[in-house]
This record gives sequence, structure tokens and C-alpha cells, in this order.
Amino acid sequence: MTFLEILILMFFLVLSIVVIRISFQFNINDYLKDRRAVKINQLKNICPHTTVAVEDEQIVMGSLFKSPVGTTKYICSQCGLIVDSKEDAQKLMGRYAKNPEQILEDQKKFRRKAKKLKCF
Ligand SMILES: [Zn+2]
Repeated sequence: MTFLEILILMFFLVLSIVVIRISFQFNINDYLKDRRAVKINQLKNICPHTTVAVEDEQIVMGSLFKSPVGTTKYICSQCGLIVDSKEDAQKLMGRYAKNPEQILEDQKKFRRKAKKLKCF
């Protein structure tokens, strides 16, 4: 093997290492971004979309769904879930009707997961 052949071999070896490194880093970033998107989507399942407060010794539940101007849809101001109608929003709220304490528990769970993802 001549010196020139060794030099050419070294050049291609370095080039292939650089190419492999670049493509690997690119895939890792994509993978992490996809995983984050999935986890943010999962947060929408955890969010209770409801607030609870005690007024005059009575438990008062409030919806977090708001309808932005110019749309007929409703969006949760906490997690960003979009529903088509007020009925859908109330249906989601209805699951807490018998057990309002569950709202506080789910809210705590939501906050913990959102903090981990550093969003909302
Ligand atoms: Zn929500």
C-alpha cells in the first residue's frame, strides 16, 4: 500500500464517520420531538378540563372550555383540547359530576406531568 492509498482510505473513513454521525443526530432529534408530541397529546387525556371551587359551602364546578371569537368550536384553556360543541365539553365535565374530588386529583396529576414536559 502506498502512502497515497492510505491517505485516500483515511479520507473516506473520516467522511463516512461524519456522514453517520450527522444522520444519527438527525434521527435522534426527530425521535425526541415525536415522543414529546405524543406525551403532550397524552396530557390532553389526563387534563380534567374542569375547575372546582367551594362557594358558600357548596361545590361549584366550572368548565375550562372557551369558544374563541370567530369559531363554533370549544378549546380547553389548560391543555388545548378542541371539541366541536358545548355538549361535548359538558360530556367531558359530566364524568366528574358524582365525584368532584377526582378533579383535584387529576389536576395534580396533570400539573406534575406538564411540569416534567416543561409546557403549559
Ligand atoms: Zn383540558
